[in-house]
Amino acid sequence: MIYILKMKTIHLIFLYLTFSALQLSAQDIPTLDWDALQETKPWEATELYDPAPPKVTPSLFHSPPSDAIVLFDGEDLEAWHKPQYTYEGANMEILKAMIAKDDDEYKHPAADWIVKDGVFIVKQGSGAIETKEAFGSMQLHLEFLSPYDPGKEGQAYSNSGVFLMGLYEIQILNNYENTTYSNGQVGSVYKQHIPLVNASRPPGEWQSYDIIFNAPVFSRYGKLKSPATVTVIHNGVLIQNHVELRGPTVYIGQPNYTPHAAELPLRLQDHGDAVRYRNIWVRRL
Ligand code: MG
Repeated sequence: MIYILKMKTIHLIFLYLTFSALQLSAQDIPTLDWDALQETKPWEATELYDPAPPKVTPSLFHSPPSDAIVLFDGEDLEAWHKPQYTYEGANMEILKAMIAKDDDEYKHPAADWIVKDGVFIVKQGSGAIETKEAFGSMQLHLEFLSPYDPGKEGQAYSNSGVFLMGLYEIQILNNYENTTYSNGQVGSVYKQHIPLVNASRPPGEWQSYDIIFNAPVFSRYGKLKSPATVTVIHNGVLIQNHVELRGPTVYIGQPNYTPHAAELPLRLQDHGDAVRYRNIWVRRL
């Protein structure tokens, strides 16, 4: 009798767990009440202003080497399309739901940013674009220009960003004579690593990033085996020296890893500013 009761209890627990798991997988991606959040501004808790990286005078651009995959050569955005989700994760809860729901069968709309005179320009308010091809560890070169826009300041002055694997942001911002929190300025691993120096050129001038990225590695059970690392050279100057990432970029709260594919598309952020891009190429590592 006791044995039958025990078996029934185990059976009920099993049914409950299965039901909970189904409920979880059916959940929609949560959203944030931005109006309510304006009261407490929880993002400010992770903004650091000290130290402010010192300024240095920079240089340098280069064309693709023979083994590079060219992602933009001045002609068109054929290598790009719009991602399934256009907002990069505000916090880990949203990000985990986005990763869990990403769907290989999704039909991506074409990238609609503006191609003009051999460069392309963020179409303000249209959302991010991402590469059709997925990449893991890579060497990436890209060139960007922050338009001169007096009156803008802080995070609102030429904000965009390179999201490695669509998850890990290297910030793009005009910080030539524009201060913001140090771990959110140009060349920061956003809210994780302050750049060693500020190698910015003035707005209106082209700048380069050379990025060496090692993707995180997960075990088959989803346990983190090794974190992502990144090295960033801004205008020929080392600004991030093989730093370890704590997880995907989040705007609110602390990052932590969530298992994902070994290769994912590279993403460029639309933050509402007409940042220009040219000469983008990548080499798989
Ligand atoms: Mg950004």
